[in-house]
Amino acid sequence: MKVYISADIEGVTGVTHWDETIKGKEGYEKYAQQMTLEVKAACEGALNAGADEIWVKDAHDSGRNLDHNQLPKNTKLIRGWTGHMYSMVQGLDPTFDALLFVGYHSASGTNTNPLAHTMNDSKINYIKLNGEILSEFLFHTYIATYLNVPVVFLSGDLGLCDEANRINSNIVTIPVKEGIGGATISIHPQLALELIKDGVEESLKKDFSLYKIQLPESFQLEISYRENRDLMKALNYPGVEQIGPKEVAFKADDYMEIVRAVEFLV
Ligand SMILES: [Zn+2]
Repeated sequence: MKVYISADIEGVTGVTHWDETIKGKEGYEKYAQQMTLEVKAACEGALNAGADEIWVKDAHDSGRNLDHNQLPKNTKLIRGWTGHMYSMVQGLDPTFDALLFVGYHSASGTNTNPLAHTMNDSKINYIKLNGEILSEFLFHTYIATYLNVPVVFLSGDLGLCDEANRINSNIVTIPVKEGIGGATISIHPQLALELIKDGVEESLKKDFSLYKIQLPESFQLEISYRENRDLMKALNYPGVEQIGPKEVAFKADDYMEIVRAVEFLV
């Protein structure tokens, strides 16, 4: 069994302030270590379920947060960014049996994580897909769905876990914290590791047909920018139309056209 784990930090246990996500700032090292331990726990759960090849994408910021030495030997770690439009699941293809998310967080435009954002927080107020706020989780889940790779597991904040279970209640979710205003309420970091390990094992032992997700037949992408300049730039992209003072829309039937548009517009 070959599995892909995409890891972020804003949904890691305890992480509450932007400084804790930025290399060089106070608290970063401690939470990057917890991110590594949560990915390690996910890898151990996957091993227990019979995974023999595990690819890990370090998908936060520069993509250089995880300590590979602490992960099992049969892991491959993708550090940095190739520039491929699959973004936080770059390298994913139909040869993978499952996709798992660790440390994921609520989307821009939600209030369930003090660090809620979608892709590029400095540029984007929110992104919507077919009228609903778009999370990084859903954006990449649809890429996996397009490639016929089931999404089986998510750990992160409670708001995002609820979203995942609305999409498919069989996805195993481990909420490690709840965001309230500018605060978080987290479970103990060591308990999080145990729950993630067991949750991943459980998710990979289920019948994978339970994880089926239907892609919508057509898509409308809506992006709200913070700056007028970014709105004006977006209007250069073929098919993009302005629908509000700082809002643009782009329509496509093929989800890959949405992924391509996000690569250039976000
Ligand atoms: Zn991140």
